[in-house]
Parts: sequence; structure tokens; C-alpha cells
Amino acid sequence: MEIVAVPAFTDNYIWLVHDEVSGETAVVDPGDAAPALEQVQRRGWAIDQIWNTHWHPDHTGGNVALKQATGATVSGPAGPRIPARDSELAEGSHVRIGDRVGRVIEVPGHTLDHVAILFDEERVAFVGDTLFAMGCGRLFEGTPQQMFDSLQRLAELPEETRLYCAHEYTLSNARFAEHADPANEAVVSRLARVEAQRKRGEITLPTSVAEERETNPFVRAGDWQEFARLRAMKDSFRS
Ligand SMILES: [Zn+2]
Repeated sequence: MEIVAVPAFTDNYIWLVHDEVSGETAVVDPGDAAPALEQVQRRGWAIDQIWNTHWHPDHTGGNVALKQATGATVSGPAGPRIPARDSELAEGSHVRIGDRVGRVIEVPGHTLDHVAILFDEERVAFVGDTLFAMGCGRLFEGTPQQMFDSLQRLAELPEETRLYCAHEYTLSNARFAEHADPANEAVVSRLARVEAQRKRGEITLPTSVAEERETNPFVRAGDWQEFARLRAMKDSFRS
């Protein structure tokens, strides 16, 4: 499975998932059709499927144009807000690309409809705006307890699992993590690494379950009350 980051807008990543055996390609969270199309054409691929993690327009805005251009099918959470959806994703659903199977789990918090797509064999997870490297999504619709539980489910995946998040927020998250957890050596050294990567214009993703268990204050919170306190701190934090 080949996974390619396509930058979109100011800090989104659209992920292309390509199965080399079948030649099939899926696009995760295409907020914008043009950059995804350009990237697949450059590689000589064709888009067969679109997978959405949640309804926000910066994740679904390209659905209609991509479907019109390629005939791709659209899979996304239930509810009326996923444009051009063909099939619903909910807890226990599966997506398939070639012979590979991704299972869907519900991870509410950022939105109530948010799902993650897990390829257990490949140790790959598409987590949308639920978990970010050293951070997590804002709580637009869900409760702190829901988001805490969702993050814990992702953190319980095998530690080598690579997590593909939908935004390049790592540097500001790392600054907050250092503020919230200043005695954590792993946070301090990751902040330095991320600063250097961003100075060179490099992507900081994917991250891994192991790294997040070590350096993500929201994953490391002991209970949902501590999580809620950290989330409120982050909402007003200026790095
Ligand atoms: Zn979102």
C-alpha cells in the first residue's frame, strides 16, 4: 500500500491510498478536487474511491467534482452532510481496496459523525481531525468524555501503527505540549525535531501510536476531566 500526502488549502492533507496489486486508488478527505486530481494524474493512477472521515467541508468539498471527473464511489459517515455519498461508514463497516480491508470505528468528539479507518494488517490508520501529532481536534460537536474515549481507542492500537492525520498542526501542538508537560524529555526533543522539519518545509506526518503515547498530552491525560482541562487550555493558548 502506497500512501501519498497531497497538501491542500493552508494546512490540510488529502491522503491518496494506492494498492499496487490491483492498481486501485482511494482518496481520503478530499476537501479540494484539483490537487488530488493533479497528483493522481502525475502518477498515472485513477481514483476509484473517496473515503470521508467526517462532514467538514475542508474534508468533503471535493467529493462532487472528483466523483464527476472519475466515477469514484463515495463512502462516509451517516447523516445528510456528506456530499454525493454512496455508502455509509459506521462502527464495524469496512472499506476495501484490492484485497486490503480497512475497518471503521466511530471516534466522536470533533464532530459527532467522525470515523477512523484502520488497516490492521498494514498498521495504518486514517484518523481525520480526531488525533493530530501531539494534539487533537477541537470539540465542535462532542463532549470531552467522547473525545477522550476516542483518543484512547486510537492510542490502544499496536504501537507501530502509523497515524495519518488531516492537518499539519504539529509545530503549534508541540509548543503547547511543551507548555503543558515541560518535564517530558520526549516532548522537548520532538519539539526541536519538528521545528527543524518545518523550517525545511517538510511534512511531519504520519505519526505513530508509540510517539503519541509518549508526547501527546491529550492521549496521556489520565481521565476525561484532565483531558477537558487540557483542551480548554489549548483553546486559549498562544504559542
Ligand atoms: Zn474537521
